[in-house]
Amino acid sequence: IHHQPFQKEHKYKHMADEECDYLFKTVLIGDSAVGKSNLLSRFAKDEFHLDTKPTIGVEFAYRNTKLGDKIIKAQIWDTAGQERFRAITNSYYRGALGAMLVYDITRNETFENVRKWLQELKEFGDPDMVIVLVGNKSDLVDLREVEVEDGQKLAEVEKLCFLETSAKENLNVEDAFLQMITKIYKIASQKSL
Ligand code: GDP
Repeated sequence: IHHQPFQKEHKYKHMADEECDYLFKTVLIGDSAVGKSNLLSRFAKDEFHLDTKPTIGVEFAYRNTKLGDKIIKAQIWDTAGQERFRAITNSYYRGALGAMLVYDITRNETFENVRKWLQELKEFGDPDMVIVLVGNKSDLVDLREVEVEDGQKLAEVEKLCFLETSAKENLNVEDAFLQMITKIYKIASQKSL
């Protein structure tokens, strides 16, 4: 694709797969009701064409992002409730270069389960996968059960990026996804050198 320095913001947001420089698959994981779908719809916003693969029961959305002069298209998969049945495995993780692992700061059990999700990533995911740990619902301060430091510590031990977000108030949502996409892009562009 030809680099067009005059290209307007809105234009790349609607570029087709083949016009983009990179196309990545990423996945959302974490317990039910932690806010995965809300995070995804926040991030994908106006470019939100939610699509489904009914055969494997997942939903996904796209978001184009400009990094330097490159257009990155991130395809983001959501479990569409399948995590309840532990029915997501191979096909869900196949080819994914990034994972956003979400827990709910108001429910400690969702944080406890982060280890289980990491285990599953190790089993089914790409070993180079970029993992961003997200503590969602940071707006619910009075209901907090998981301290910021707990998230930070776990992220440090497991070598993950970490952020707290609020899908409801749109805090850090953009940042969380962009950290994941930027890191994937760095790894991918180094590999192709
Ligand atoms: P999923 O099952 O992980 O996809 O979770 P959903 O996105 O369906 O969200 C589960 C519930 O949590 C819904 O009632 C959302 O409205 C609510 N929710 C999601 N994100 C937030 C948030 O950041 N703050 C608050 N207060 N509620 C949220």
